[in-house]
Amino acid sequence: AKSTGKNVAVAFHPSMTVEAHRRARLETELRKAIDADALHLVYQPQFDCRTSQLIGAEALVRWTHPSDGEISPAEFIPVAEGSELIVALGQWVLRRACLDAARWNAEHDTAIHVSVNVSARQLRQAQFTEQVKAVLDESGLASPLLELELTESQLMANMAVGVEAMQQLRTAGVRLALDDFGTGYSSLSYLQSFPVNNLKIDRSFIRPLPQAGQPIVAAIISMARSFGIAVVAEGVEEPSQLAWLCDAGCDIVQGYLTGRPMPVAQFRELLGAEIC
Ligand code: C2E
Ligand code: CA
Ligand code: CA
Ligand code: CA
Repeated sequence: AKSTGKNVAVAFHPSMTVEAHRRARLETELRKAIDADALHLVYQPQFDCRTSQLIGAEALVRWTHPSDGEISPAEFIPVAEGSELIVALGQWVLRRACLDAARWNAEHDTAIHVSVNVSARQLRQAQFTEQVKAVLDESGLASPLLELELTESQLMANMAVGVEAMQQLRTAGVRLALDDFGTGYSSLSYLQSFPVNNLKIDRSFIRPLPQAGQPIVAAIISMARSFGIAVVAEGVEEPSQLAWLCDAGCDIVQGYLTGRPMPVAQFRELLGAEIC
């Protein structure tokens, strides 16, 4: 942008400063929020297409800012990912989610898993697998009831480190999911390299269904199946989408139709619920 001339650089400078300031302020405040327990988790249910049973939940972080109110993770996660802050935040989320899931399963004598989003920077920490094991020990959650969601684009940035860490986690008994599938630039053949249990088809592929977009979703489902990977559809909002997906062989659904992200107390009331 600088090479396009002085005027452009001058014109863009003030807004970049505002944005940079906002990020710096968010970063400072986010650091305090982690220490002050000002973050909380909400849980979005996941259902088995074949049996209609509730099988798990994705943990999603929320931040209630003292003056700005609710800030979306879509805004503050990228800020945290720009620094080591994501490591502390991610560790807080992992621990909270495992404690919650251990409690809901003990209360109801169920085996409902929790899925936790993990950033590449966390995965690259040499001690990450040990930290995961320590949290499982502390919470008493069985390792197959913890699923870690990793995004395709973040894994692609460093294949070797990612795959090795993933193999360690699988050895520890933890389940892995490839998140936001289809939004990165990898080819389907990369699926062979990632030792994942589940593949989450990004919401952007679900939205056009069932009027359009069926061939690509059908191809993803069939490719995943041939690798023995279960398919999760994200962002299912319409009954017609649910019907099409279940018919097409999708294994698991998650979306506003079957359940919005909700506080843990509300999620605990849902245990044992069914769709349709
Ligand atoms: P994601 O992992 O792809 O999570 C799914 C997002 O889609 C969530 O937004 C969820 O509320 C939203 N969603 C679920 N069902 C529907 C639907 O039917 N329609 C629509 N329009 N949206 C739906 P949320 O909670 O705002 O999270 C946004 C992103 O922030 C997440 O995307 C994830 O990338 C990141 N994130 C959230 N929590 C964490 C965390 O604890 N750690 C990390 N590293 N990232 C997180
Ligand atoms: Ca996710
Ligand atoms: Ca996703
Ligand atoms: Ca996403």
